[in-house]
Amino acid sequence: MLDKPHTHSHASSMLDTPVAERMPREIAPGVFWIGDCLAQRHKGKVYHGYNAAFLVCGNDASILVETGHPKDFPVIERHMNVLFARGVAPLKYLFVTHQETPHCGGLGRILRTFPDALLVGDVSDYHLAFPQYEHRMRSMNEGDEIDLGGRSLMAVEPVIRDLRTTWWGFDTKERVLFPGDGFAYSHYHEDGHCGLIAEEAVSLDLPDVSSTFADLALFWTKFADMNAYCDRLDHLIARLGVKTIAPTHGLPITDVKATVPKVQEGLKAAALMPETGTNEKVTAPSVAGTHA
Ligand SMILES: [Zn+2]
Ligand SMILES: [Zn+2]
Repeated sequence: MLDKPHTHSHASSMLDTPVAERMPREIAPGVFWIGDCLAQRHKGKVYHGYNAAFLVCGNDASILVETGHPKDFPVIERHMNVLFARGVAPLKYLFVTHQETPHCGGLGRILRTFPDALLVGDVSDYHLAFPQYEHRMRSMNEGDEIDLGGRSLMAVEPVIRDLRTTWWGFDTKERVLFPGDGFAYSHYHEDGHCGLIAEEAVSLDLPDVSSTFADLALFWTKFADMNAYCDRLDHLIARLGVKTIAPTHGLPITDVKATVPKVQEGLKAAALMPETGTNEKVTAPSVAGTHA
């Protein structure tokens, strides 16, 4: 075999790394992207979306942001164990942005597997599903912070949300925003985008995949002036000094100035299109003679 240039220490080497070896991926110091993609069929194409989770590691404690889809628990657990074996602080907290399966579907298994961990955020109704863990649930409001040692996870305004109970998370040290469904877009598995950050996935049409996701998952964006929401988003990003965005369903964004406008373009475009619905439409076979 020919000698290959040693590029593994170079920042662009992720493009040469096999997909399966890309995760867990450190997207900011002490902030790790973990989890797996989910393939969904839409308009005759296979769209890949993440149901990601993130581990934010302080000096004393780590917090898991989101749990992944129920099918992802073995992957999430494996990725966390890789990080704990590397010496990151133990898991003391779980924060989920809202009560929906791809965000909190592993909640019961996380609380069972990590008996010292507390659930934080909006905790409405979880005690009804898991009465045995009710004493480990702590409600957060906007501005509340969870101290991890040298950094904290703050609950912040969820500008673009799915459910009314949503909170977004914010890491105060590296200024990473966890917006749940706020920056939701699929990626192209065929182009090798899995495990890449948005800026590395150069062939990804961000306005298109963002508008598709909004169409399928955020119905209210059809009935709102998305210019107002995008302005509010700009305001939040400026106020917090956001450096990295870690969405649950999109690829992480590390160039906020360049990439956020592309996602906003998709949100604004989706708002102007009629809703197509969430199910794959099957075209009825045409009957001979009915076509002109
Ligand atoms: Zn979601
Ligand atoms: Zn993928």
